[in-house]
Amino acid sequence: MFKFLPGLLIVYFFVLHTSCSTTTESNKPSLFDSCYALKPLSSIKPKAQEWEWKAMHPEELQVPVKTYIYDKPPRANGKRQKLYTVKLGSFDRTGNEIYHIVRAYLQSFFQIEVDTLKTISVQEIPAGASRQNEYGKQLQTHYILDSILSVHKPDDAYAVIAFSLYDLYPDDRWNYVFGQASLNQGVGVWSMACFGNYRESKAAYTLSLLRTMQVAAHETGHMLGITHCVQYACCMNGSNSLQESDAQPQWLCWECMAKVCWNRNINVASHIKALYLFHHRYTRNADCISYYGKALTLLKPKANQ
Ligand SMILES: [Zn+2]
Ligand SMILES: [Zn+2]
Repeated sequence: MFKFLPGLLIVYFFVLHTSCSTTTESNKPSLFDSCYALKPLSSIKPKAQEWEWKAMHPEELQVPVKTYIYDKPPRANGKRQKLYTVKLGSFDRTGNEIYHIVRAYLQSFFQIEVDTLKTISVQEIPAGASRQNEYGKQLQTHYILDSILSVHKPDDAYAVIAFSLYDLYPDDRWNYVFGQASLNQGVGVWSMACFGNYRESKAAYTLSLLRTMQVAAHETGHMLGITHCVQYACCMNGSNSLQESDAQPQWLCWECMAKVCWNRNINVASHIKALYLFHHRYTRNADCISYYGKALTLLKPKANQ
């Protein structure tokens, strides 16, 4: 039984010649050059197994950075600068701790100010937008996105993201989903229900935290207009199951990183350094620390962009 990670898929048709550079000083590397320097760390995604996302959902190769920029993806601008997070239902102490760490992760990953909305009670969700089955109580994502988050989105919000400990489903055709985001409305919701019992052990806690971080970064990436990454092993890969998403990296490939850094107008080295420090402090995940450590080393001669 598969669990899908839906996200808005946008098809880009045009390749034009716009600059990816964010610097006006000719002696400094461009954003594109800095990200391209990290290409040796981006491994090509192997051929998909028949049960994996890429085999079941054939997708176009992701658009190049220049096309992404040309197509004017959604960006935080004007008064809409903040990313809001909100808890859906009551969280226990450990769930609450994970929620706050993931908020800090989004702040580091996207270098965006993160603010909080008042917790949404599950009582606000009508009987017609929830159901009870073998997965327990499930909440319907479309109702949460369209009738709660979109309605209560603050004026200064670029996007609002809800975290749920309840399982989610988009409609009756689906068994469940990890999360769902609406690019046009700047709203998203995801569940920690299937990420393991974080109360069980320290290892289960760390695994649940990493899984929540991964889906948070992935869905927020969709909110920046970034489609699934097809070519590289990347945080923006589509995923059909926990087994598949667990095998994918927490980090972005060089190309998706360039899209995020351009969209957020952030320095590549500061994005990487923030995540290197984050993993040291919160997850102690050896793969992530190793990846961001190597990336910092590769950027060193160019880190003064
Ligand atoms: Zn996705
Ligand atoms: Zn990628």
